[in-house]
Amino acid sequence: MYDLAIIGAGINGASMAFSFAHKNVILFDHEGIAHGGSGAAGAFISPKFSKKGELKELLHDAFLYSLAFYEEHFSEFLTKAPLLHIAQNEEDALMLKEFKTQTTLALKTPPKELLDQLLPSARSMENISLDGGVVAAREICEAMSKDADFKKEKVESLVYEGGVWIINQIYKAKNVVLATGAYEAVIHEPYINLRGIWGHRIDVRTSTKNGCSIHQFLSISPAKEGILALGATHDVHYHPQKNTQPYDMDKGRCELLHKASKTLLLEDVAILKDYTGLRSGSVDYMPLAGGLVKSRETLASKNINFENKKPNFENYTYYPNLYMLNGSAGYGFVLAPYLAKILSQHILNGVEIDKKLLPARFFARWARRR
Ligand SMILES: Cc1cc2nc3c(=O)[nH]c(=O)nc-3n(C[C@H](O)[C@H](O)[C@H](O)COP(=O)(O)OP(=O)(O)OC[C@H]3O[C@@H](n4cnc5c(N)ncnc54)[C@H](O)[C@@H]3O)c2cc1C
Repeated sequence: MYDLAIIGAGINGASMAFSFAHKNVILFDHEGIAHGGSGAAGAFISPKFSKKGELKELLHDAFLYSLAFYEEHFSEFLTKAPLLHIAQNEEDALMLKEFKTQTTLALKTPPKELLDQLLPSARSMENISLDGGVVAAREICEAMSKDADFKKEKVESLVYEGGVWIINQIYKAKNVVLATGAYEAVIHEPYINLRGIWGHRIDVRTSTKNGCSIHQFLSISPAKEGILALGATHDVHYHPQKNTQPYDMDKGRCELLHKASKTLLLEDVAILKDYTGLRSGSVDYMPLAGGLVKSRETLASKNINFENKKPNFENYTYYPNLYMLNGSAGYGFVLAPYLAKILSQHILNGVEIDKKLLPARFFARWARRR
């Protein structure tokens, strides 16, 4: 009997496995560790630069937590580097100016040699600089999951019987976390509406020197042995399981190189490797961490007023000991260690999770609209 079964071995599943490393954990992924969106990620660790909002606040806390977490536990897979975020246009520049007056993050003055390497149009734009990092996506997922019992297997059946979850009719676990990203839902609930956002990034060899993470029209990583990562595209129209035409790799490469060329002159460029995958985003842009509401059973309850704009989530009926960690869109590597800590403390010690993160918020909205 396992204490925890995790379905999906991307950064969310791997972070849960690490949080439960002192327990008996089984981890499933039919593709292997970090073969979904996580295997494609450039895995830049950065906060969200915007004026205000719940996501900005969450990412502020997650950025500080996760950077320190990676440094403490997985420093061999973390490249610490200055992060230079450059405004794309005048509106963006105003936002960055305001961000600087409000933020409590430790801002830096970008070194002159760093600014000198930018194209004049990028150099003249408003920018912001702070300490950030990039992690080795696949290696870190593998290291985080090393104590779990990994099964390269698709989870096709999940049944709750006699107080335990039975997975694929063989494995038994007390708790289950669904960390399946944008690929497939193991449990279908009509209020969970995650969309896949296709992304493409490339590794290039170049003689151009770069010592920092630059973010403007896309992200450019620090060069390591002459290789740097450029990424990523955001395509809401392409989906590998829904489109009949294959993905146009050349078009994606052109877009990436064109966007990079607006910030930095990359010389002697050779594309070494393409990475593609789906990010999973929610309709309110916030991730989902917490228990799953059983919609049919909850709707049948006579004691709940579904019109109530401030619903009490405790009145809902939940799948027993079943949780979701998903919807981290383009910030999975920033959010996952932080959210896994929150979800683990909830599962192990009953610590309450902020309502803004709970999947139940989507049930409440869906039930009101019906
Ligand atoms: C090109 C690109 C660049 C990105 N860059 C960054 C970045 O710089 N910084 C950042 O923080 N984030 C970045 N992201 C986003 C980040 O990669 C995602 O937020 C993150 O990967 C989500 O992780 P996950 O564990 O939720 O999902 P995934 O990594 O997609 O993992 C889900 C896994 O579940 C498995 N699975 C699904 N169903 C089943 C089943 N029934 N049985 C068994 N296994 C199953 C899938 O095979 C998959 O491996 C990027 C994403 C892309 C695509």
